[in-house]
Amino acid sequence: MKSLETCGLCLQKKELQNSHLLPAALYKQLREPSAGSGPNPVIVTRHRMVTSSKQISSPFLCADCELRFSRNGENYVVTQCAEHNGSFKLRELLQGASPLFVDDMDQIAIYDVQQLLNTKVDHFLYFAASVFWRASSHRWKMGGAQIDQISLGARYQEEFRSYLFG
Ligand SMILES: [Zn+2]
Repeated sequence: MKSLETCGLCLQKKELQNSHLLPAALYKQLREPSAGSGPNPVIVTRHRMVTSSKQISSPFLCADCELRFSRNGENYVVTQCAEHNGSFKLRELLQGASPLFVDDMDQIAIYDVQQLLNTKVDHFLYFAASVFWRASSHRWKMGGAQIDQISLGARYQEEFRSYLFG
């Protein structure tokens, strides 16, 4: 029988899954089988830049919370990201929309996300919040090496967890 540990999101004693900092589906989407330098995504650290198949993952969330993350954000957002067949639905949406404000000097364009994404805004917000929260609430490792942990501060750490838990 597997041992039960505290899930990072629901805080209940559960069997933990092999959770990822970024969705496993995104790693899969980032692989480019025809690339000459290797099919894997480029990992950039302070010291070097390499292609690697290593994913940042470790036991962190229970199956229910993994499902919550998938349903509330990941499943939809991953379909809007760049794919190596050239498809990039979020970029296509932006290219077809009129910005509210453009600053050519600083190369900034501001869009009305509510108008642009309509009912899907919540999926992007939830997904983005989940990535920041994951990066701040767990000491992740990649291939045995510790990844720097970010800080949201005590107040926002709990507010993000509470929002993501529903
Ligand atoms: Zn949980």
